[in-house]
Amino acid sequence: AQRETTDLVKLVEEVLVLTDKDLGKHRVHVEKRFHGRPMAMAAAGQIEQILVNLVINARQSMPNGGRLRIEVRELPDGEMSEIKLSDTGVGIPPENLRLIFEPFFTTKQPDEYGRGGTGLGLSVCRQIIEQHHGRIRVESVVGKGSTFTIKLPKKRVEE
Ligand code: ADP
Ligand code: MG
Repeated sequence: AQRETTDLVKLVEEVLVLTDKDLGKHRVHVEKRFHGRPMAMAAAGQIEQILVNLVINARQSMPNGGRLRIEVRELPDGEMSEIKLSDTGVGIPPENLRLIFEPFFTTKQPDEYGRGGTGLGLSVCRQIIEQHHGRIRVESVVGKGSTFTIKLPKKRVEE
C-alpha cells in the first residue's frame, strides 16, 4: 500500500468514530491527549487497522469498563511520531509479554458461538509496523493495565 504523510491525530479520531459505539456499550471512557499535529510516513488504512485492533484488545481487557487513554506526540529525536494506548484492564502476566506478538497466541475463551480470539491481531500489527520501519512495544502490570506504544518515522526511509 502507498505510504504518504499521514496526520496521526486525524487517524486516531477516525478510529474512535469506528469504535465509539462499542466502547460506550462496554463503559469504556476515552481520554485523548494530543500534543501538536504529529505526522507519520504511513499507509493510513493499515495503521487504522492496527489501531482498531489495539482499541478492541483494550476494550476486551476491561470487561467491567474502564479508561482508555490515547496519546499522540512527536518524539524529541525529530525523526519519529508516537501513539500510546493505555488501558485500565486486566493486564498481561510477565511470562506472556513475549508471546502476545506470536501468531495464534490468544488467551480469549470461545464464547457461546465457539468464537474466541484468533491470536492474529498483534502479530499482524507488529508485521505492519516493522514494514513501516517503526516499533511496537508493550508494558503491562497485572491488575492495573497495559500500555501499547507505536513509533513511526515522520519521513520516508530509504529501503
Ligand atoms: P486475540 O485478540 O485474538 O486474542 P491478539 O494478537 O490481538 O489476539 O492478542 C493476543 C493476546 O494478547 C490476547 O489474547 C491477550 O491475552 C493479550 N492482550 C492483547 N492486548 C491486551 C490488552 N490490552 N490487555 C490485556 N491483554 C492483552
Ligand atoms: Mg486482538
